[in-house]
Amino acid sequence: MDPKIPVRSSEWVFVSHAHSDHTARHSAVILTEPTRRLMRSRISGLRSERVLEFGQILRHWELEPSPTQTPFNLSLHPAGHVLGSAMARLEANGQSLLYTGDFKLRASKSSERCSPVHAETLIMETTYGRPRYVFPPTDQVIESVIQFCRTALSENQTPALVAYSLGKGQEILASLLEAGLPIQLHGSTAKLTEIYADFGCRFPEWTPLNPETARGHVLITPTVRPLLSAQPSIGPLRIASLSGWALDNRSWGTPSSHHRFPLSDHADFTDLMKFVEAVQPKRVFTLHGFAAEFARHLRRQGVEAYALSEDDQLELAL
Ligand SMILES: [Zn+2]
Repeated sequence: MDPKIPVRSSEWVFVSHAHSDHTARHSAVILTEPTRRLMRSRISGLRSERVLEFGQILRHWELEPSPTQTPFNLSLHPAGHVLGSAMARLEANGQSLLYTGDFKLRASKSSERCSPVHAETLIMETTYGRPRYVFPPTDQVIESVIQFCRTALSENQTPALVAYSLGKGQEILASLLEAGLPIQLHGSTAKLTEIYADFGCRFPEWTPLNPETARGHVLITPTVRPLLSAQPSIGPLRIASLSGWALDNRSWGTPSSHHRFPLSDHADFTDLMKFVEAVQPKRVFTLHGFAAEFARHLRRQGVEAYALSEDDQLELAL
C-alpha cells in the first residue's frame, strides 16, 4: 500500500493516488483509471497496471503472478482527496481491512465523493488529527478567494493563487467556474487539468501562464518563483496560498506578506472522527501528521488505536 520506495519485484503495489509521496517507480500497480493517467503523466517508464473500477472486486487469483497463497478479495472505494484517489478494502482469512490513503469527506468540485465502508481494521491518514484543525465551510473560503482576486485586479495587481499542481489547482479552478475571472494556469497544473477534463470535470476557460500576458489575470500556480523573476512584465503581485495549514499562526515557509486561505484536500479533525464513526472499526492504526495525538484521542473515546508513523507515548493514569 503506497510504498515510497520503488518495488521492482513481482509484488503488486496499491497506489491510492498520484501525489509524489504516495507513488514511486514500481513494477506492478493496482489503481483507478484516473490515477493511472495522472501517474503516467508524472512517472515515465513501463509497468504492469491493474485498473479497478470503484466497488469492483479483485480476487487474488486474478493477479498474475499471484502475490500470495492466501485467498483475498480487494476492492477500491472513492477517497475524495483528488481525482481517482482510492481507499483499498481487503478481505482475507475472514477479516477485513481498510486503508484510506489521503482522504477528505467534504464534497469536492474536482474529485469523487468519499465513500466510507466498514472494516474491522482501519489504517487511516491523520494529517490534521488535532482538535484545533476544523476548517471553515468551503463556500465561505472560496468566496474569500474570489473577493481577494477581484480586489487585487481592481487595484491593478495580479493575484497569484499558490496551490499544488495536482488536486488543489483543479479544485480552485473548478470553484472559479461562475466567477467570470480571466485565468492563466502554470504548465504543470495545466497538464494535469487536461486529464481532469477528460474525466468530465468542468472548468472555466483558462490559458497557459505567460509572463508577457499575465498581468490582469488570476494566476494558478504551484510556485511563485518564476513569477517573482518575471515581475517587471507582470507588475505588482498579490499572492495567496491555499492550504489547511493556514489555520496555524505559523506561515509554514511562505513569506508573511502572503495571504493564506484554509482550503484543504484532507479531512479536518471533525471529519476524521466522523470517518471512524462511519467505518465502525474494531481497531485503528493512524498515519501521517498528528498520528499519535489522534490515536490517543480515539483511545479516550474507547476505540483501540495505535500510531504507525509516530511513537505512542506511554500513558499513565495518575
Ligand atoms: Zn495526497
